[in-house]
Amino acid sequence: MLCPPGRTVVAMPPMSKIPISGLTSAQMYAEARRLLPRGAGAARALYRKALCEGRFEPEAPEFGLAPTTAEDLRRNFELRLPETVQVIEEAGERGITAKQVLRLHDGLEVESVLLPMGRDRTTLCISSQVGCKMGCRFCQTGRMGLLRQLTASEIIAQLLVARHHQRWPVRNLVFMGMGEALDNPEALLQALAVLTDPGGLSIGQERITVCTVGHAEGIARLAAAGYRRLNLSVSLNAADDALRSRLMPINRRTPLAQLQQSLVTYRPRDNFTLGINYCLLPGLNDRPEDARAVADFCAPLGRVMVHVIGYNPGDVPLTRAPSTTEVDRFIGWLREAGLPVRRRITKGQSVMAACGQLGNVELRRRRSKDPSKAALKAGS
Ligand code: SF4
Repeated sequence: MLCPPGRTVVAMPPMSKIPISGLTSAQMYAEARRLLPRGAGAARALYRKALCEGRFEPEAPEFGLAPTTAEDLRRNFELRLPETVQVIEEAGERGITAKQVLRLHDGLEVESVLLPMGRDRTTLCISSQVGCKMGCRFCQTGRMGLLRQLTASEIIAQLLVARHHQRWPVRNLVFMGMGEALDNPEALLQALAVLTDPGGLSIGQERITVCTVGHAEGIARLAAAGYRRLNLSVSLNAADDALRSRLMPINRRTPLAQLQQSLVTYRPRDNFTLGINYCLLPGLNDRPEDARAVADFCAPLGRVMVHVIGYNPGDVPLTRAPSTTEVDRFIGWLREAGLPVRRRITKGQSVMAACGQLGNVELRRRRSKDPSKAALKAGS
């Protein structure tokens, strides 16, 4: 083709499709109305089938759409689910712990873990970021740095793949996989809207837990979103500023007094119970005075439940794993100080699926060698 002088022909990029798993039912309907000449009436039913059965099939006879309308829907929307790279399972006392490693469209990988909770209940631990910039010293993901944020659609896709590809019977969800969910607040809030949408997945808020290392601004944003039955838990791990700053760099930005204040004001309902997670690190945070400091920190917080879990050494261990006796002794001190405590059984250790073990440091190395991704290195 001949161009007039001084003009350049620019190839149009292919139109990008809207990922359905990042929308609520109402948003899908609104987008269909905006983009399509007809067919928006079927959008809600198509949406429910996509989210609840993992299939986007506008041509299916049940929707009664003309072939051109079905084509329009396919041209504008997609249910993009990541490829499963690996599924690893470990049998334990309470059932099978399983980790899925999923490859995203840009080649990065994200991990989620199915945890058996006893009495046929299961929890899927999902990721909110690829890597994490919080740098907690006991955590494998923290060693990766932040490679990138996940989109809401990629967060939800972990659940859809778990349910529809791995056929895992997921009941509850916890944002405790790779990443700090409150460091990715837009995607987290959109994902919560999708998860709880009665027109789609319709998961009860009480079955979802957001876990944070103590991201005060994020806690305030979550409070403002108004989820009254959602669960929140904080990874405390030390109630002494000097020690916590050593273990968790976020404590330098948000010291304990400020974190405590943000938790005092997080009161979504009268009977709200805040989860306090404590990873027991032998020789670091397992003294009687550590237990008393936890009790002092929790005193103004209203109802709490402390979850103690033994440290899972990764490939660069900070310390060793505690013995059962050491965990029991620490739990005893917490109870003596008046705290309700549950012991969390370590699961998935042999398949690197236990708390603090998720992440692929090799991905970080590969990414660092790719000059096109140099900007990410600087930003993480
Ligand atoms: S514990 Fe959580 S917040 Fe801390 S580095 Fe690991 S993934 Fe990030």
